[in-house]
Amino acid sequence: MSTILPGTSATGQQTTLGVMGGGQLGRMFVQAAQRMGYFTAVLDPDPASPAGRLSHFHVKTGYLDEQGLAQMLQRCAAITIEFENVPAPALVTLGAHRPVAPHANAVAITQDRVQEKRQFAHCAVPCVPWAPLETPAQLAALPDRLLPGILKTARLGYDGKGQARVDTREQLARAWQELKQQPCVLEMLVPLAFECSVLVARGSEGDMVHYAPQRNVHRNGILAVTSAWDGVLPAELAQQAVACARKLAEAMLYVGVLCVEFFALDPATPLAQELGGLLANEMAPRPHNSGHYTQDACDKSQFDLQVCALAGLPLPMPRQHSPAIMLNLLGDLWFRPGAKKPHAVTPDWAAVLRLPGTHLHLYGKLDARPGRKMGHLNITGATVPQVQAVAAQAAQLLGMAAP
Ligand code: ADP
Ligand code: MG
Repeated sequence: MSTILPGTSATGQQTTLGVMGGGQLGRMFVQAAQRMGYFTAVLDPDPASPAGRLSHFHVKTGYLDEQGLAQMLQRCAAITIEFENVPAPALVTLGAHRPVAPHANAVAITQDRVQEKRQFAHCAVPCVPWAPLETPAQLAALPDRLLPGILKTARLGYDGKGQARVDTREQLARAWQELKQQPCVLEMLVPLAFECSVLVARGSEGDMVHYAPQRNVHRNGILAVTSAWDGVLPAELAQQAVACARKLAEAMLYVGVLCVEFFALDPATPLAQELGGLLANEMAPRPHNSGHYTQDACDKSQFDLQVCALAGLPLPMPRQHSPAIMLNLLGDLWFRPGAKKPHAVTPDWAAVLRLPGTHLHLYGKLDARPGRKMGHLNITGATVPQVQAVAAQAAQLLGMAAP
């Protein structure tokens, strides 16, 4: 792939990068691309989408709309995605004419939990014990060993949606019925010591860089807190996570930023002794919520790397210069506790921003809803205890659970 340089050409042409999807990840991609001097185009049907509202061009059509895709091709030198459920045929159409990163095949793997787990197996990356559930015969044949388990739809789940915890075969059958017997996977519910994730970025020539893995806390299936500093994870585990993520990116001939989420098990448990202490959970073919700290704690953010990978620019190894904690800001913060009406309260940002090393990122979403990702707060500092102290104060000011 040739390099797509930013800025204006001698003939007055402005180089434009495109993104399919206008959510917050698209918005932060657009911000990074614009800072480097690219024009941007966003395709998203929502006229108020967070990225669409910031972009030079906003194509307001569906993802498979021929005219919309044609407009993206006309405007853009290269195109990326901001969420994995952009229909693969749209990426095939775009990819026939322009560089598209990540490519449709890699996205198709990550869109489907069955394919994703087969990819883990193909790369000898351990993952949770699981079985596909697509037919009543498979339901009958599922091993008891997977219970208690989590039933997950194979496609279109996010933030814990499309999932049900099941303890017995009866509950499993009922939960699958409630999911309209769509293709699912049943995973064993594993006792988590903690969760972590790794971000790698791979260029079209196969060059690859990564950030050190970060530690994640989820609440109600939604990422709540990410902690990132040297030593936040045991060194051996961190190395193993990076090696797995690199192997997966390599095997998919992936181009762009890839996030791999992992479960870490207590090494003393029999399950960890059987399977290993680190199990892959899922992959995201894009910058990830757990990498948002890189915006303020690293010399290049995950969005900068996505821009560079897409444009065929060099990918030097990013360097983290400060320890960091990221707090996700969910719509719940806009509700007075116990009250139902949104915007009853505006969080006291001034109080939060008085704390040293706080960086507020709000996505410009118009309505707050419980569980909706409205923004995030990055906290950086000179030392880990300092960052932890400020994060605890910020969480208290916002009425959030202690990080
Ligand atoms: P999503 O696509 O919604 O992020 P995940 O599969 O990552 O779905 O599940 C969300 C969270 O639920 C995980 O980060 C983890 O905290 C918990 N979880 C999911 N699967 C399991 C499992 N098999 N065992 C234990 N906890 C799990
Ligand atoms: Mg997840």
